[in-house]
Amino acid sequence: MNQNNKAESRLAATGPTQFPVERFAETPTPFYYYDIALLRATLEAINRGADHDGFHVHYAVKANSNPELLKVIAGAGLGADTVSLGEIEAAIAAGFAAADVVFAGVGKTDREIAEALRLGVGCLNVESAEELEVIISIASEMGVKAPVALRVNPEIDAHTHHYITTGLAENKFGIAMSMLPALMERCREAQEVDFRGLHFHIGSQITDLTPYRILCERINALQEEYAGYDIPTLNVGGGLGIDYDHPDEHPIPDFEAYFGIFAECLKLRHGQELHFELGRAVTGQCGSLISRVTYVKQGVGKRFVITDAGMTDLIRPALYQAHHKIENLTSQSDHCERYDVVGPICESSDRFGESELLPVTSRGDLLAFRSAGAYGEVMASQYNCRSLPGKLYDF
Ligand SMILES: *Cc1c(COP(=O)(O)O)cnc(C)c1O
Repeated sequence: MNQNNKAESRLAATGPTQFPVERFAETPTPFYYYDIALLRATLEAINRGADHDGFHVHYAVKANSNPELLKVIAGAGLGADTVSLGEIEAAIAAGFAAADVVFAGVGKTDREIAEALRLGVGCLNVESAEELEVIISIASEMGVKAPVALRVNPEIDAHTHHYITTGLAENKFGIAMSMLPALMERCREAQEVDFRGLHFHIGSQITDLTPYRILCERINALQEEYAGYDIPTLNVGGGLGIDYDHPDEHPIPDFEAYFGIFAECLKLRHGQELHFELGRAVTGQCGSLISRVTYVKQGVGKRFVITDAGMTDLIRPALYQAHHKIENLTSQSDHCERYDVVGPICESSDRFGESELLPVTSRGDLLAFRSAGAYGEVMASQYNCRSLPGKLYDF
């Protein structure tokens, strides 16, 4: 099924995004609005798409650790991919079984490692030889076996696919291919290690599936190279992108095509498990940041819409030059004008859009910044002594 069919089935199931504007009018702005029905439909599409032997999907908690969303995701049967003790605790509190929690990250502290082992997380994804030795000594002191996977940089050429930013040798993440033989051997001989497998993550917001085909080929080659080793699981990371420009046309990513690539191209060994850890693709489209227009300011040759939401509520535009589709939910005008949409924070990068075409916009209008369910609320700050954004849910 392509994205359009997916979109149609979602529209048939829940209707196009109909914002409850009357509820919004009574809610102090800015706030995050979560369409939980869309999250559920997305999770159903994931479970359908991943219905292949040995496939297991984890949710990358860093994309959005909102407890209401975590509960729904745990309820759909996904595991959790975490990068701190705080995220491990949030996942367990939301109902994920510790055994379904994976702990990743380049800078796990001794305390985090000990707590993860005590709580019984399913796997620690190790990112360096130094970290492996620390885990071995902590496990030895505790008298436990540490479940460990090695995160490998598949070294997929950045020039072929410039958007792959985390799978390269010079990156701070993961273990270089050249160091892998020694670490595989160390995992095999160390009494304290329960070797779980190999982990790969090639980047984020990937919308062309070709890099995943290349990843499969790399992994197939590695599996042959390490034919003598038991590798119970492979973890191919996350990174599947969403359509930021057309959230209503493509509210749900094409999971069938995504998982289908791995089913087609990756040669799993008998009984081997294949793990995925998707973040943005799970929660990105179900969230919008809702904001009220404080002023429409006439500048010299430019008109500014100044919103009560700023980069403290949604930092992606300032941090990554990302763009979220902006909708005016209350303008009655059928005439459009161009505006720069900016926040109130004392930073020039506090800007959501340049020369945005919006229906004639006035003070008091409600705007929606779409596709803000991932890397939105979790990155909010209190810079400028601001309050954190509120939340509103549609279940
Ligand atoms: C961030 C991250 C993910 C999730 O990435 P998305 O682009 O949100 O899918 C998965 N795995 C690892 C190791 C990550 O760092």
